[in-house]
Amino acid sequence: MSVTMEAANQLKSVKPRRSVLEMPEYHPPLAGREALRLDFNENTFEPSPRVIERLRATTAEGLTKYPEREPVERIVASHFGLHAEQVLLTNGVDEAIHLLCATFLEAEDEALVWTPSFFMYDVSVQMMTPHLHKVQSDATLEFPFERFMAGITERTKLIIVASPNNPTGAVVSRGHLLAIAAAAPQAVLMVDEAYYHFHGESTMGDVSTVPNLIVARTFSKAYGLASLRIGMLAGDAKLLKYVRKVSSPYNVNGVALDCLPVALADEGYVTWYVEQVRVGRERMMEGLRMLGVPFFPSQANFVLMNIGPKHKELVSEMRTHGVLLRDRSADPGCAGFVRITIGVEEHVTRGLAALQSSLEEIGWKMQQVIESTGQEVGDDVREFE
Ligand code: PMP
Repeated sequence: MSVTMEAANQLKSVKPRRSVLEMPEYHPPLAGREALRLDFNENTFEPSPRVIERLRATTAEGLTKYPEREPVERIVASHFGLHAEQVLLTNGVDEAIHLLCATFLEAEDEALVWTPSFFMYDVSVQMMTPHLHKVQSDATLEFPFERFMAGITERTKLIIVASPNNPTGAVVSRGHLLAIAAAAPQAVLMVDEAYYHFHGESTMGDVSTVPNLIVARTFSKAYGLASLRIGMLAGDAKLLKYVRKVSSPYNVNGVALDCLPVALADEGYVTWYVEQVRVGRERMMEGLRMLGVPFFPSQANFVLMNIGPKHKELVSEMRTHGVLLRDRSADPGCAGFVRITIGVEEHVTRGLAALQSSLEEIGWKMQQVIESTGQEVGDDVREFE
């Protein structure tokens, strides 16, 4: 190829939108997860046996059809005491976040989040606008309510708050959430209740009276359906009408739609799984106290531990014991922090035993954490989940 042709081709080469070029890349650390999965806050066991039965009833002909979301939205709405127009099913909460950003954010609008929190908010917001305002927690990792309220401006159009929050397990009270919604009537407040079941407090009951409130729920955690990719938004019918315009009509696959009503109906299963996690979480926190590992009290199905400078060593030592953990050191304010998922009893027992041996093997001492506080800065690329 001649030099001039090459130059001409380079000029013509495809470039993404500027916002995409500038977006952070996310790296799902998914390789080699054949071990005890205490890294992604998934259900560590399996879903309701009724879901498995329903899956087995999937027919070959059924797979040839485009899925119908609306009939299942009616079932889900009545489960939550809502009208069908107040519910939108999505391809996981990940897609719900993306849809809200695409529906409500102009390039000049601002979005408001607190950090550390779920990384997908950054990814989806920054695709639409560079004006992502992040309010950082202090060392307690609690919700910085006053500073957050002060971060609301006339240009704030979307506010996202996870309660319980990931990766900290901290919660935001219903009172604070309603105060945020009232202080920003020009903005949508999305309350991400992905971990709702492990805490029990919700703003779902407020969606009919608070016009700018949208609640997101996932079926990936307590219901154990992460692989089916299904989540939902509940909120004001008018707001959701806009979001529905942006969503593909076939965003949720038919197998997930078949299984969801069955999963919702088996309340006994969810109650059982949540109880396993609640008891396991107490055991884990007690175990960490005995081992002298500092941690943040959690209302979710995971606990964030402060391991200090040996965080990477611990994660790889645990892997040799067949247990996966998540290093959260690259999250803002989380240098040296590692997260462990709480699952069913047997998995908590295995996780705790592996932690005890791994901490000994890497020569971990509480003193190292105290000496390193405030010194280490996370330098890793932030990871999804
Ligand atoms: N929100 C939070 C706070 C999460 O931690 C996660 C998943 N880790 C999600 C949303 C995404 O859930 P889904 O599997 O429904 O996309």
